[in-house]
Amino acid sequence: MTAKDLPALSVADLQSLLRQREVSPREVIDALQARIETVDREINAYLSLDFEAAAKEAEKANVDLPLGGVPIAVKDIISVAGQPCTCASKILRSYRAPYDATVICRLRAAGAIPFGKTNLDEFAMGSSTENSGTKLTRNPWELSRVPGGSSGGSAAAVAADTAFGALGTDTGGSIRQPAALSGIVGLKPTYGRVSRFGLVAFASSLDQIGPLTKTVRDAALLMNAIAGHDPQDSTCLNEPVADYAAALGHDLRGTRLGLPKEYMVEGTDPQVKTAIDAAVKHLNALGAEIIDISLPHTEYATAVYYILATAEASANLARFDGVRYGYRADNPKDLLDHYGRTREEGFGPEVKRRIILGTYVLSSGYYDAYYLRAQKVRELIRQDFSRAFERVDALISPTSPVPAFKFGERTADPLQMYLTDIFTCPANLAGVCGISVPCGFAEIDGKRLPIGVQLLGKALDETRILQIAHAFEQTSQWHKERAPIAATLQTALVRRSFSEGG
Ligand code: GLN
Repeated sequence: MTAKDLPALSVADLQSLLRQREVSPREVIDALQARIETVDREINAYLSLDFEAAAKEAEKANVDLPLGGVPIAVKDIISVAGQPCTCASKILRSYRAPYDATVICRLRAAGAIPFGKTNLDEFAMGSSTENSGTKLTRNPWELSRVPGGSSGGSAAAVAADTAFGALGTDTGGSIRQPAALSGIVGLKPTYGRVSRFGLVAFASSLDQIGPLTKTVRDAALLMNAIAGHDPQDSTCLNEPVADYAAALGHDLRGTRLGLPKEYMVEGTDPQVKTAIDAAVKHLNALGAEIIDISLPHTEYATAVYYILATAEASANLARFDGVRYGYRADNPKDLLDHYGRTREEGFGPEVKRRIILGTYVLSSGYYDAYYLRAQKVRELIRQDFSRAFERVDALISPTSPVPAFKFGERTADPLQMYLTDIFTCPANLAGVCGISVPCGFAEIDGKRLPIGVQLLGKALDETRILQIAHAFEQTSQWHKERAPIAATLQTALVRRSFSEGG
């Protein structure tokens, strides 16, 4: 192992090298910086980097802490003191966060080093990074395709070995879907499990922060650091936090796994279906009992999600008025002109579409027909899950109905884009937890594109889905495969260090 190969490591492997003093935190930061400088030109995962601050922190890092000296990438919608927090929006282009989000405080307390902010769809609204107001992130498996979204920068960085692990946010699938499309692990915690203090709010009844990582163990390690009660977020649950990493290694005998019949919808790519069928068989062979289950209100989930998420977004985004922070239009005629032009010029088209939709569904005359009705259907969706979890320990489904799509393929029709959330948004509506783990590849145009399987667990049962995901991962090879950009560059790096005598 030479310094140049370090970025290929998992968080767990990196931490053990650091703890054994085989590498120093400073060497890790330098290796990561070199890697990002060569690779991120092609991937575009990062919006901002602060290696100067990271190097300083590395010098004083305590490697005996659980994540001591481990650099972690952060979606650019989570506040890191002194660093930009643009939400990939023009309206926050010049904004720097004045304080650390609670998750960042906790990562630092565990010894981790936040060093860079990753790209996203503007304000986390989207599934591909194509709605980013700054740039497009490419999928490390195939550069002409999207990495998924909205946490596409975090997913692509982990898949390209330009991050050991990353934080993302998931409102309707934005951790799990990009994890699936980029061939990595992504966990959406239970609503309220992780503090959102310092997260720029999109839809407050749905948003959660969670990890994107190379392995299930790494997701557990990051959860150990970030989960838990925070008096600064009133929605954060005051419930004991498990040692998620220590709980791994549990065998699956006696586990009841529900297969929802509604989750094999028309339009699901046949190669995705084949991979999920194989994953179900695999888990069955490991001892899990497979039980057919019904979540009868699934067909309404996407519609309900887009009513509630846009309603909440329209309220949350009202604060961006050019008065307190961020972009401000030049030479306004009067106050209304100031507000109007600031928002007209500062927000991108998808964000405007959502504010308009959200304002519409909340307006008097339409409130009962849309918002209130959607709340009622949300309750039915929640009940579907409660009933299912009386019979099974977890549910299994595809994460996304399709593998990574090409840039532009779904942008013309927003509905096509919205439909990619079909398997992920019900979990946000119900507040339960979910994880996506690599389970195979689709072959399209001669290219291999990752497929993810989703496991959903009842509220606060992260331990269980991590255990199932871990058992699956440890008996399959999918997570060991590297994206071509990671594989070729690693070989190149190894070769170079050999010729240098490293
Ligand atoms: N793709 C969904 C949307 O566009 C989910 C986004 C998210 O989870 N942040 O709203």
